[in-house]
Amino acid sequence: MSQKTLLMGRVLSFDRSPFDGDPTEAASLSEAVLVEEGKVVAMGAADDLKASHPDAAIRDVGDKLVMAGFVDPHVHYPQTAMIASWGKRLIDWLNSYTFPEEMKFTDPGYAAEIAERYLDLTAAHGTTTMCSFCTIHPESVDAFFTAARKRGQRVVAGKTCMDRNAPEGLRDTAQTAYDQSAALLEKWHGVDRLSYAITPRFSPTSTPDQLEAMGALWAEHPHCLMQTHLSEQTDEIEWVRSLFPEARDYLDTYEKFGLLGKNGVYGHVIHLEPRERDRLREVDASLIHCPTSNTFIGSGLFDMNGLMRDGHRIGLATDTGGGSSFSMLRTMAAAYEIGQLRGRPLHPAQLLWLGTVGSARSLHMDDCIGNIAPGMEADLIVVNLGSTPAIAQRTARAEDIWEAVFPTIMMGDDRAISEVWIAGRPV
Ligand SMILES: [Zn+2]
Repeated sequence: MSQKTLLMGRVLSFDRSPFDGDPTEAASLSEAVLVEEGKVVAMGAADDLKASHPDAAIRDVGDKLVMAGFVDPHVHYPQTAMIASWGKRLIDWLNSYTFPEEMKFTDPGYAAEIAERYLDLTAAHGTTTMCSFCTIHPESVDAFFTAARKRGQRVVAGKTCMDRNAPEGLRDTAQTAYDQSAALLEKWHGVDRLSYAITPRFSPTSTPDQLEAMGALWAEHPHCLMQTHLSEQTDEIEWVRSLFPEARDYLDTYEKFGLLGKNGVYGHVIHLEPRERDRLREVDASLIHCPTSNTFIGSGLFDMNGLMRDGHRIGLATDTGGGSSFSMLRTMAAAYEIGQLRGRPLHPAQLLWLGTVGSARSLHMDDCIGNIAPGMEADLIVVNLGSTPAIAQRTARAEDIWEAVFPTIMMGDDRAISEVWIAGRPV
């Protein structure tokens, strides 16, 4: 007989998007959630669930918040050890810090060490699923999937392909990128909770031949996600223009090689042309907002309000280690601040939704993760809404759940995450 657990607390789940209509009415609170065999079985009144499931073990977290684990749809786990490196903009930052670190992943031992460290750190911050770039080394993909599989985590990752404008030792070719990606996809995609993403880093580091090979691989596996970067900095866009003089715009450098589609996941997307916005919406591609990265590297202000209004599919991500934090709470705070700079403050319900349901939607996984509902996978976190004296004194005056949550969004970190459950088991 399998073990049932009744987790009691303030259980928060979303009924609809808080970007449609009144955000305060987008979510519900219930008293308990029943978990069995890694899935959510039921939620509702604690007494009712206790009565109907007297065999369930009980875990009562009092007035702490129980919600879905955070979903981080754009990260670079290999950049864990160089997060918060000082003083560069995108292209210099890649050359000075990122590429030297990524070289080290030719060593499977180092790759395994960083994969474990990354998953430890992110679990402590309440993130249960992420979509990660690896390095050009197949070993870096094996290390990440091996570590995530051991923990029972739902993750997405792919070999980062680059065949130009990167140092010796960090370049593959169009053919080896295709062959190695295809072999890794075959080996890992659909194993337990693992998914493979076809991963060209971005147009400046791939030749047209390599982009074409990636597009061909995606056409053979259209159910897989394809992740890359798009329109992060203005000098990057100029560089793309000089490398692809025929292209109509940055997005066209992907589109013409078959790298634009519904399962495409595009990081940053800040400085978009009207044609790019229209095409991304037409195909219903995923746009990933990485606010701590955008302020840290000085990239620009994502147009959350306009893109949401136009109906884009949007996720929220840390972009570790271009982003300056592993915390999705800190990332929500940065999204709030960027919204303020654009004249539109995001409601706490919108911030929490973006970091869970919205990000799961961006990975086309919102049917199984990112929310609490019967049948969904039980990746849950318990959040202490008074985790520091500064937060607790503010929360004490809160008159509703959103006022109680907002100080933790703005000032919280891993101390706010009391428990993390992956596939129904506390970790
Ligand atoms: Zn990135």
